[in-house]
Amino acid sequence: MSSPWGKVSNSAPVEPCSLQDVMSEQLAADLQEKDEMKEWELISRAEADPGLNLASLTAGIGSEDTKDDHMLAQLLQMEFDKEHDQEVRVREKQYNRDSKVSISFENYRTLHPAYRDEEDEVVPTLDEDYEGEMKWDKKPPKFNSQGTSGKGKEMITKHDSSVCGRRNASRMMEFPPEFEVGDGEGMDMKLPNHVYNKLKLHSISENKRSQKLHEKKEHSTAEQAMDPRTRLLLYKMVNNLVLDSVSGSISTGKESVVFHAFGGEIAGEAMPKEVAIKVFKTTLNEFKNREKYIHGDHRFSRDDFKKQNPRKIIKMWAMKEAANLNRMKKFDLPCPVVQVQRKHMLVMSFIGEDQKPAPKLKDAVLTIPDLEDAYDQTLEFMKKMQRQCSLVHADLSEYNMLWWKGKVWVIDVSQAVDVTHPLAMEFLHRDCTNVSNFFRSGGVHQVMTPEEMFNHVTGFDISGEGADFIAQVRRYDTEKSEEYLLCPTNRKQFSFDFFFDKSQKERADALKEVGFSDSEEEEEAESEVK
Ligand code: ADP
Ligand code: MN
Repeated sequence: MSSPWGKVSNSAPVEPCSLQDVMSEQLAADLQEKDEMKEWELISRAEADPGLNLASLTAGIGSEDTKDDHMLAQLLQMEFDKEHDQEVRVREKQYNRDSKVSISFENYRTLHPAYRDEEDEVVPTLDEDYEGEMKWDKKPPKFNSQGTSGKGKEMITKHDSSVCGRRNASRMMEFPPEFEVGDGEGMDMKLPNHVYNKLKLHSISENKRSQKLHEKKEHSTAEQAMDPRTRLLLYKMVNNLVLDSVSGSISTGKESVVFHAFGGEIAGEAMPKEVAIKVFKTTLNEFKNREKYIHGDHRFSRDDFKKQNPRKIIKMWAMKEAANLNRMKKFDLPCPVVQVQRKHMLVMSFIGEDQKPAPKLKDAVLTIPDLEDAYDQTLEFMKKMQRQCSLVHADLSEYNMLWWKGKVWVIDVSQAVDVTHPLAMEFLHRDCTNVSNFFRSGGVHQVMTPEEMFNHVTGFDISGEGADFIAQVRRYDTEKSEEYLLCPTNRKQFSFDFFFDKSQKERADALKEVGFSDSEEEEEAESEVK
């Protein structure tokens, strides 16, 4: 007798397997994978859009705000809505082409008008012009200048209740989507004025509420000095195991915020256990007066600088600091070791221990012999920095030198310039002044004057003091950069391009291995794939 379930081939016996096995393991794994994919997609998409403020994404960094899952959910939803609306807009364009009569897809849009970007947006209005709004309804009557339409018995005024009602109903269809207005299509729907007005008021208060959410987000950003891009970058690094965890900020300056974090691994290599993350602030104001450090540095030509958008300029500061640190490390100067530089963020080795950064020379309590030792180290450092690295720190002082394990560590080199910079020697003279003043007031014997120190560091023999000395330094600066321009190959081995390209390449390779890509295009493609 044949089986009612069809024939079972004997060649491939089905292995018995319990339903429970299938259910429990495979399904759970699948579900988990799906979940993770979704989560990752959200993050990638959110990052692709700098406008999105994910104030609460990287939980554990910063304030109470980071626990606000609800807000995060809302923000992510908003992102989806934005994308959806964009799609609708494209479809609308395709549908209408250049036809004179166009069909509006307005009502298919999901994002609340308060969040729509202005540039690509025609925000639906609730104003008096209603002609266009009746498109889904009967053709509206045309009123003459007296506000009447039609003749004799048929004549109506613009206050005619049914006209008003239809108009109101029509406008209601234009309310933001969270208003459950129903589908009025094809119905001769009328809405009394008082009902319409109530709804309109509610719509306005709804708008205000949304704006409040907006404000709250911005406020929280200002407070924590961390914008969504930064949060997402950190989040991504934690996710990619580049960082183990981010503990909190150790310094908030005008131009940057420095965080402490526990290092993970990059390109298969373990990072130092503790790292410092310097995040350059994405507000440009403070950077304006630092232009001179970039202008004139042949590595960052003025034209390039001008062409860049603000975000890129800030990124350049991080790149510049990384490049300078790398160059210093090459000559074994005591400075942090660059781990990763990405966008406006620089991850470097941490100078200090147990989350406590080493004290600045300004705050460190040193015995006189230690201070004298620190002075010698500083001179040695300045000499090497100038002669071997071809760099001038340009902000060297007791604020940017840390005292750690009996050694002076130099940090904060984003503004350091190549010695060919037209102001390099002037900057160096200023550095010498700071260093000289600090150690003299600290009680070190026989501290060199700034002028002596300058000559000691450079090997020059400039005479004079004060203004006279500075005038000579300036003259030297000018002549030197003219000479440099005439013969740019002179300093080939120190040229920025050489070191920069090299460090860029190494970095790019390392980043690729951990699943980062650097260019914006790649990034977008990346988030699309995911
Ligand atoms: P800013 O431009 O804000 O002065 P800095 O690079 O000087 O930036 O960093 C600010 C502070 O952060 C420093 O004074 C120091 O206390 C801390 N810091 C920066 N980098 C490190 C590091 N690699 N290790 C330990 N502490 C650091
Ligand atoms: Mn500093």
